[in-house]
Amino acid sequence: MHKLEIEVGRDILKKNKEEANQNLTALKRYNIRAFDILGSIGSGKTSIIEKVAPILERRGLQIGAIAGDVAGEDDFVRMKALNIPVVNLNTGTECHLDAHLVSHAIERLPLKKLDILFIENVGNMVCPTDFELGTDARIVVVSVTEGDDVVNKHPMIFRVSDIGIINKIDLAEAVGASVARMKNDMKRIAPQVKQISMSVRTGEGISQLVDDLLNY
Ligand code: MG
Repeated sequence: MHKLEIEVGRDILKKNKEEANQNLTALKRYNIRAFDILGSIGSGKTSIIEKVAPILERRGLQIGAIAGDVAGEDDFVRMKALNIPVVNLNTGTECHLDAHLVSHAIERLPLKKLDILFIENVGNMVCPTDFELGTDARIVVVSVTEGDDVVNKHPMIFRVSDIGIINKIDLAEAVGASVARMKNDMKRIAPQVKQISMSVRTGEGISQLVDDLLNY
C-alpha cells in the first residue's frame, strides 16, 4: 500500500472511532445496551437474535435491532417477524457496517422504549474488524460448518471481540470438525473472549448467552 493510502485509511478509522464514541454516548443516554454481532454468512447471527430476543422480552426487556447486509431485506424481514423495532441497513458495496451508517439507523429507532439493541453486521470475518460501531460488546459467531480451522484463519476478529460463539456444535461430528480445536485456537488467539459452545437448533448455549448479555 502507498503511504498516502495508509494515511487516508488512518483518517477514516479515526473518524469512525469518533462517531462510534458518539453512538455509544447516545445509546447510554437512554440506558441501552448494544451488541455488535459479527461472523460469516450462514454462521447463525440472525438465528441467534431470533432465539434470544423473545427470551429477553419475556424478562421485561424491550429489544431493537439493526439488520446490516450488502443488499436485500432477508434478515430485516426475519427480525420484523419478532415484533421488535428494526432498521434495515444496506451497505451496497461495503463488506461492513460503519459508525456513521449506524448513527443514522439509531435515529430511526424508538430509543426511549429500548433496553437492548442488536446490530447484526454484514456477514464477513475480515472487513468489520477495524470498524467499531459504538456498542457495549462485540460478539463473533462461527459455526463448525465453516471448518474447524476458521478461528485460526481469522485471528483479528477474535482479538476485537468480547464473546465468541461456536455455533452448530450438533453438526460437528457430521462435518468432521473438532470443537475442541476451535476452542483452543480461540483461547490462544484471544484469551479475553468469553466462549460459548452453542447449537441454536438444540438450544444449547442460549441461556448462557442470555446471562452474559445481561452482565453488560
Ligand atoms: Mg443474517
